[in-house]
Amino acid sequence: MPELPELEVVKEVLARRLVGCRVTRVDVAPKGGPIVVRDLTGRGFAAQLSDQRLEAIERRGKFLLFRLSPPARSGSLLVLAINPKLSGRLQLCLADAPKAGPVQVTLHFEALREVLRYVDSKRMGQIYLTQDPAQIPTFAEMGPEALQVPMEEFRSRLTKFRGEVKGILTRAAFVAGIGNAYADEILWQAQLHPYRKRTSLSPGEIEVLYLAMRQVLESAIEQVRREMGEDIHLKPRDFFAVHMREGKPCPRCGSAISAITANQQITNFCRTCQPGGLIRGM
Ligand SMILES: [Zn+2]
Repeated sequence: MPELPELEVVKEVLARRLVGCRVTRVDVAPKGGPIVVRDLTGRGFAAQLSDQRLEAIERRGKFLLFRLSPPARSGSLLVLAINPKLSGRLQLCLADAPKAGPVQVTLHFEALREVLRYVDSKRMGQIYLTQDPAQIPTFAEMGPEALQVPMEEFRSRLTKFRGEVKGILTRAAFVAGIGNAYADEILWQAQLHPYRKRTSLSPGEIEVLYLAMRQVLESAIEQVRREMGEDIHLKPRDFFAVHMREGKPCPRCGSAISAITANQQITNFCRTCQPGGLIRGM
């Protein structure tokens, strides 16, 4: 489940290694490939990508955007948008390297020994080919980037969303890039119970939450950059304070970390550091 920090580092690595390269061939695995691929151009996924030159790689929320230009300016610009969701990942490796999981799509490049694989054990992610990312479902409704939204905008946007603070943090329409794991880390940093109602947060607590969001995401990018290196299929998370650390000691107070599962998503937090909340299932 890559979120903003992992995708930001994957983007950096791929931009350094692949920008300027020309796609020579795209393989879509007969099994699974058609499930993840969405050709919004209607002109053929692999056929459209062949011969395109990779001009830039960007990240928007939990999407990676590969901007491509056609040979000899014979057509319009294309965007390959990858949203790995819960189980997808990218692998940049030699063509005969062991697979990091079931491979759905492989991109081959001119004069490059490595290939780029999309690997997704649950085939939940999606790969769109489009001339306009606004065509991608929910893309246009995404809120500002979590690391770019100013404090006052964060505060005013928050008033438009109802419910529990963790649920709001993970909604891309509020701010883009935060998922289940980093929401737990941010709320632990802010010492806020994940099930606190948004309407119960004081102005001071909202400021603390905003600063915790920035601090957690910025330091995670640095940590992931160090641990991932060029192995973009890895998901370094051993530095987490609470997420997936049920029963282990809280790094701040030593209490055992709690876990609650709701809607098939686990929430980890420290009952001592993050008290209160309108608590369900406890
Ligand atoms: Zn604690």
